[in-house]
Amino acid sequence: MNLQTPISELTRVGKTTASRLKNLGLETIEDLIFYFPFRYEDFSLIKNIDDLVPNEPVTVRGKIQLIANRRSFRKRKNITEALVADESGSVKVIWFNQPYLTKTLRVGDEVYLSGKLDEDRLQFVSPDYEKVRTSPVHTARLVPIYHLTLGVTQKQLRFLISQTDKVILQIEDYLPKEIIDKYKFLNLNKALYNIHFPSSQLNSDSARKRLQFDELFLIQLSIQKIKKQLKENKALKIKFLEKQTKDFVDSLSFTLTDSQKKCSWEIIRDLEKDQPMNRLLEGDVGSGKTVVVALAILNAVLNGYKVVMMAPTEILAVQHYQTFKNLFAKQKLGISLFTGSKREVDGEKVSKNALLEKLGEGEFDLVVGTHAVIQDNVKIKDLGLVIVDEQHRFGVGQRKALVQRDKKDFIPHFLSMTATPIPRTLVLTLYGDLDLSVITEMPAGRKPIITKVVYEQQRMKAYEFIAEQIKTGRQVFVICPLIDPSDKLGVKSVKQEFEKLDQEIFPDLKIGLMHGRLKSKEKEQVMLDFSNKKLDILVSTSVIEVGIDVPNASIMIIEGSDRFGLAQMHQFRGRVGRGEHQSYCFLFSESNAPQTQKRLKYLEECRDGFQLAEKDLELRGAGEIYGTRQSGLPDLKIASLTDAALIQVAQAEALELVNQGNFSLELQKAVDKLNLSLHFE
Ligand code: ADP
Ligand code: MG
Repeated sequence: MNLQTPISELTRVGKTTASRLKNLGLETIEDLIFYFPFRYEDFSLIKNIDDLVPNEPVTVRGKIQLIANRRSFRKRKNITEALVADESGSVKVIWFNQPYLTKTLRVGDEVYLSGKLDEDRLQFVSPDYEKVRTSPVHTARLVPIYHLTLGVTQKQLRFLISQTDKVILQIEDYLPKEIIDKYKFLNLNKALYNIHFPSSQLNSDSARKRLQFDELFLIQLSIQKIKKQLKENKALKIKFLEKQTKDFVDSLSFTLTDSQKKCSWEIIRDLEKDQPMNRLLEGDVGSGKTVVVALAILNAVLNGYKVVMMAPTEILAVQHYQTFKNLFAKQKLGISLFTGSKREVDGEKVSKNALLEKLGEGEFDLVVGTHAVIQDNVKIKDLGLVIVDEQHRFGVGQRKALVQRDKKDFIPHFLSMTATPIPRTLVLTLYGDLDLSVITEMPAGRKPIITKVVYEQQRMKAYEFIAEQIKTGRQVFVICPLIDPSDKLGVKSVKQEFEKLDQEIFPDLKIGLMHGRLKSKEKEQVMLDFSNKKLDILVSTSVIEVGIDVPNASIMIIEGSDRFGLAQMHQFRGRVGRGEHQSYCFLFSESNAPQTQKRLKYLEECRDGFQLAEKDLELRGAGEIYGTRQSGLPDLKIASLTDAALIQVAQAEALELVNQGNFSLELQKAVDKLNLSLHFE
């Protein structure tokens, strides 16, 4: 048996079990060994039967005196009853619906029973059991608990993993010895052994620490390597044109915030290098990312290079297109729009081929579009800068694909912009290959959005308030969550809400409906109607979440707010408060659970997207923070994304090693394996 041996060759693994284990990602012995328990049940305390006290997790060792099945008439359950005795006394044991027990456990067998003594009847109810042997697996120790899938039991997994102990000992450590010594880590065999078979809590803690470090360290290594490789590529140098930049900034109707200046400067300095920029511009909704990006575009264009900007949806692409047309009206930039269904050059509709040709010839300055731009195999002459809105990564391969053959040694600079507040620890862990610019302050004079949790009994009052606001000319968003998980786009709940508001609550108002199943033409029409005030209320799923700009909207209602992450709701909230009107965000929730209420209350007070994201991370874990949009986030197996201290250590060590550049073969292998599962592009 070795690491690559398929699990199916282990004792008691048939085809069905093998395919179930595959659902857990377990196919080889190695997978099993690296499948870590998420907690332990402490049954290491072994006591005499006479000394048992109720409700204490404990193990007894005794002989079976009696064992038999009977049926309970009332509940039609099968009950197995046994009497187990040691030198000190005896105890009654019952199990439910495991009639086969009388076949495996027989009178006279010596067994371990692990569980708690029932308070009322002083008997063991459904304890874990195992015949006495030298090293018990399921009882009489710190018993590991693994995540399961349908049809796979803890006992099965433990039994399988217990067969791997010899292979664990053969695994070679990939971590450099200096690091092991420096942090007094266990070596890898020991850590792997102890995570599955700890002899004490202390012992499992040190195993956990080593394996957590490994996970973060390997991620860091692969990220730092990507970063280093990227820097080995060439990019077109974009000279900072001070006068023109200053003139542009002076022409704006506002002054830049210090934060905007700082971020712009970081970007401009990157652009001047002949190495490709790889930068993430992060800033809360309304913090003014667009002008910062505009400065980068302006400099690239005035240097004679082309710029591509991609948005996640057609609506947003069109919006950016219009914004930039306005912003750059004086500079007379040639701006094109390229989405799945729309092609425009400087405001004129054109055919796809005509546009492709223009792009290929470089007869434009900026093309704004959706990802149709990459799907359509567009080749762009003199491409200097790629900007992607709300997507954090854009691989070297994707960038190269946009570049024309004559310049294929050059990679465009890359700037990602996002309103998603990403907690620092997450940035360090998963986006460590990106340099970060954060807009930390809002333009002056913004009125804070008044946020309120609305209890069910206040719903009518809230509707009255909404009606009044609409009378004064304002508009309202209503966001609905996914109710039925099979209804991935939430069409059902949003339709119900629409009908309720349209027919019962506000029959006199004009209400629109928006969800992911509408065709993009339809979506656009709805958005257009809403922006042109043809609609008073827009009922929508979370498709509305990013970027939409309707300054006249002053109320954001979030239905089923217990179902959304805080950071996500903060982004919804950012859809209002964009004009001069006092704006409101109402959080409706069907759940009165104190925890839910507490979480929602947090949103009432907190206006800082980063803090909200940190809170989400703490309460729900990384996967939940950004909804489904960011599903590229890998779930860590054992490390925690909130463990800032360990993350920093792992990053520092990885950086040093990457700079030294001498990887052992084992380490390289470990990194390569991880890379496969991280989907960077
Ligand atoms: P976001 O970061 O959400 O993309 P935008 O770039 O769309 O924000 O900016 C939101 C609004 O704030 C826009 O109308 C923009 O013109 C305005 N704005 C940007 N920067 C400033 C500033 N420094 N002072 C005042 N208003 C600003
Ligand atoms: Mg924006």
